[in-house]
Amino acid sequence: MSDCLFCRMVKKEIKCDVVYEDDRVLAFRDINPQAPVHILIIPRKHIETSLDIKEEDASLIGHIYLVASRLARKEKIDKSGFRVVTNCNRDAGQAVFHLHLHLLGGRSFSWPPG
Ligand code: 5GP
Ligand code: ZN
Repeated sequence: MSDCLFCRMVKKEIKCDVVYEDDRVLAFRDINPQAPVHILIIPRKHIETSLDIKEEDASLIGHIYLVASRLARKEKIDKSGFRVVTNCNRDAGQAVFHLHLHLLGGRSFSWPPG
């Protein structure tokens, strides 16, 4: 989608601090980090929200979670622990309507979330 911020990052029209990419996903550091490690992992394919994931996306979604785990090890937050979050729609505070996982770590998090 031409007017989608994250699609524009996939197309390299907007710069971002890429930490990993392959033929299906892109991972980059959040511009407004909420923890010492705050990485966004997105599919190259435009999917608006987690409600829009289709059966045919199952392997892609599995791949995104594998990438999250690999990055957690690479960033050395695997043993201390980390959080993987996907916000969906208004009450969760979704601001960018291109599916993304937040990988957060490097500090402890409270539960339940605010
Ligand atoms: P959401 O609230 O949709 O779950 O999260 C969107 C995330 O995208 C936010 O954490 C926000 O800081 C991040 N973000 C928004 N614009 C940009 C940008 O231009 N570059 C980067 N790297 N992150 C962004
Ligand atoms: Zn998009």
